[in-house]
Order: sequence, then C-alpha cells, then structure tokens
Amino acid sequence: MAKIQMKTPLVEMDGDEMTRIIWKQIKEIIIEPNVDLKTEYFDLGLKHRDETADQVTIDAANRTNELGVAVKCATITPNAQRMTEYNLHTMWKSPNGTIRAILDGTVFRAPILVKGIRPFVSCWEKPITIARHAYGDVYRDTEFLVDGPCRADLVLTYPDGRQESQTIFEYKDAGVVQGLYNTDKSISAFATSCFEYALDTKQDLWFATKDTISKKYDGRFKEIFQNIYDTQYKEKFEAAGITYFYTLIDDAVARVMRSSGGFVWALKNYDGDVMSDMLASACGSLAMMTSVLVSPKGVYEYEAAHGTVTRHYYRHLKGEQTSTNPMATLFAWSGALRKRAQLDGLKDLEDFADRIEKASIETIEEGTITGDLNNLLDNDNKKTVTTEEFLRAVAAKL
Ligand code: NAP
Ligand code: MG
Repeated sequence: MAKIQMKTPLVEMDGDEMTRIIWKQIKEIIIEPNVDLKTEYFDLGLKHRDETADQVTIDAANRTNELGVAVKCATITPNAQRMTEYNLHTMWKSPNGTIRAILDGTVFRAPILVKGIRPFVSCWEKPITIARHAYGDVYRDTEFLVDGPCRADLVLTYPDGRQESQTIFEYKDAGVVQGLYNTDKSISAFATSCFEYALDTKQDLWFATKDTISKKYDGRFKEIFQNIYDTQYKEKFEAAGITYFYTLIDDAVARVMRSSGGFVWALKNYDGDVMSDMLASACGSLAMMTSVLVSPKGVYEYEAAHGTVTRHYYRHLKGEQTSTNPMATLFAWSGALRKRAQLDGLKDLEDFADRIEKASIETIEEGTITGDLNNLLDNDNKKTVTTEEFLRAVAAKL
C-alpha cells in the first residue's frame, strides 16, 4: 500500500530515558509503516544537550518558529544527581523553559477521556483544557521576612527620575512582604494564544481572575483579554459559534465542577499550576494528559504532560519489559501530524492522525491496557500488556 505523503517536515525533538524508548517504538510500529515521515531531527537527549552546550535546544526552538509545528519527547531537567549520572559540564536549564521563552507560548493541557475510566467529577463528559500563563507573578516574586516594626513601601522609578510610591503596610511587629510583577506584553501574548487555540479547537474560552480584590493587577489581565477579544476576535468567535466569557476565579471553580466540560479555561500562573494538578488527578492518570505549547504567532509544539518515567527506565535497563503508557506521547505525534496536515492541506494525513487516536482509545476501551490504568479502568475483560504489545494492538486496529 502506498504510504501517506507529507509536505513540510515536522520538527522532531527526541528526549530521554523511557520516553526515548517509547518514541522510537511509536515511530517504528505506528507511524513509519503508514506515513512517508518527514522530520528535521534534533536530539534533545541530555547527553547531546551537554555535548552541544544546549545549543541543540535553542536550534530546535528556532526551527520550530520557522516550520510551525514540532513534536517533543519528554526530557530530563538536570539536578545535582543528574550532574554525576551524566557527568555534565553544567546544570543545563529546563528545555521546556528554554523553548517556551523562544516561542513565547502558552501551554494547554487536556486529559484523554476513554469510556470505562470515569473522571472523579461525574458530570465531566468532554475534556477540559487548561491554559496556564507561564510567566511572572509569584514564580518571579521578591520577598522579605520582616523582623520587627517597619514601614514597607512600593516604589516605581522611571528613567527620567520620576517616582511613584505607596505604603504597603506599617508593621508593628514581625511579618512577611512580597512583590509581584507581570507585563502587558506577556499578558497580551497569553491572551492571543488562548483566543487562537479556542478558535482552532472550536471550544468556548473561559478566563477567570480575582479582579474584585486585585483591581489593578488582576483588573489589567481582564482588561487586556477584553480589549483583544473586542478588537480582534469577537467576529471570528461569533462566526465559529463559540463564546468568550470572563468570571471571578471562585465562581469559575464552582461552575467547572458543575459543567460537562468541552471548553478552554485560561488561568493566571498560580491558579493554572494548582488547577492543572486538580484536573489531572480528577481524570485519573498523568499518562493520559496531553500538552501543547501554542505561540501567539500560531506555532505549535506538542508533547506529553508527564516526564521521562525514570523508574520504568531503570527496570528497562535491567532487561525487563515495562508496561509504560505511551498514550500521551502517541497523542503528541497525532496532534503534530494533524496540525501539519491542516496547514499543508493534506486530508489523508489528517485522517491518519484521527485514526491513531480512535484506534488507541478503542484499544483501551476494549480492555488492552498498560499497568497504570489497571486500577482505573472498569472492564471485566481487561488485560495488562507491555508498551510494545499495546502499540502493536493499536497498529493492528489501524
Ligand atoms: P514522571 O516521569 O512523569 O514519572 C512519575 C511517575 O508517574 C512514574 O514513576 C510513574 O509511576 C508515573 N508515570 C508517569 N508517566 C507514566 C506513563 N507514561 N506510564 C506509566 N506511568 C507513568 O515524573 P518524574 O519521575 O518526576 O520525572 C522524571 C524525569 O522527567 C525528571 O528528570 C524530570 O526532569 C523529567 N520531566 C520532564 C518533563 C518534560 O519534559 N515535559 C516533565 C516532567 C518531568 P510508577 O513509577 O509508580 O509506575
Ligand atoms: Mg503543579
């Protein structure tokens, strides 16, 4: 049978440990037998990042900006223990942080829902996608422990020497104080990525902050979202039959719990951090969580939400066959192939991406699963298999 053709290559970012093994299996078992695969390959495995002084990560991100779509394998973010394990020259920064800084993007995370694994919130029928603003606020704060009576001031100094100041608090005793910031540029990029993603996936967009309490800080977020919506997206949203809606964060949390899902929920940095873990655990497994970085220019980088599954890798090195769940990595590939197909107008390739997802979901629904889903799936005929057996079962369905 003739293989499905591609036009523009994907940027392929290989990674580390168990996910690197799964990466190769997905290509060999699922993709290459069906597609005449075109990629530009960048090896982001820690050894090669170290050999290139992390230049490979920067090159891969820049190339993604040029070609438009990337697929990325999970990678190790080095810590002290990895320094000795890999004999590293320096403790290289998180590749995801480097890539995010170059693409200036927002991360969207959504669970893969299958019949037989009920979310703990029983009314959630469609996935909820969380968009977290990954810049500033409490993640870049400045803090003091106050050790006695004093006055804390907030002072702005402009280049012409002009100053504005406000007293935060007059301490009569010890306490704490914290300074936070964000920028109009970053908030606007975040808003634009959210509007683009909602349009692209034809889902409503919700945005929530606490602007009744934080009138200027959170108020600015609300205002920027509303301005961009009114001037650039209102007509497009109406034409697509979707809505943008702002509400207070506490109201949003209450509504999310009563919703049937199927929307994008945009959140400030801290709210997004907390709510993504809530969503992931309410849906069962990190191995069933997809992740895509979308830049305001409309560049896409697909990956799994989980890490390199180190514990399974050490078992693999001892010669054991592991039952690591490849779903999120498989969906990173199908997501990237689908986006590439849409941009290049390749109907066959788009259908193939849909079929990968359908076949893998059906494989699980029929009871062929990896070990992590054993306690979650409600099915009398379930059978736990190795990663390779799982992928072969998906390939047979394809
Ligand atoms: P992890 O790789 O996500 O794994 C944590 C645990 O979750 C695993 O030990 C496993 O539990 C379970 N798990 C995760 N994915 C699974 C899958 N696909 N199938 C089955 N079980 C799965 O997180 P980590 O152990 O904290 O981090 C390992 C390395 O990954 C670190 O070096 C970290 O820097 C890196 N990391 C990379 C990314 C990224 O590139 N996006 C994200 C997070 C972490 P059991 O062992 O109990 O089976
Ligand atoms: Mg978190």
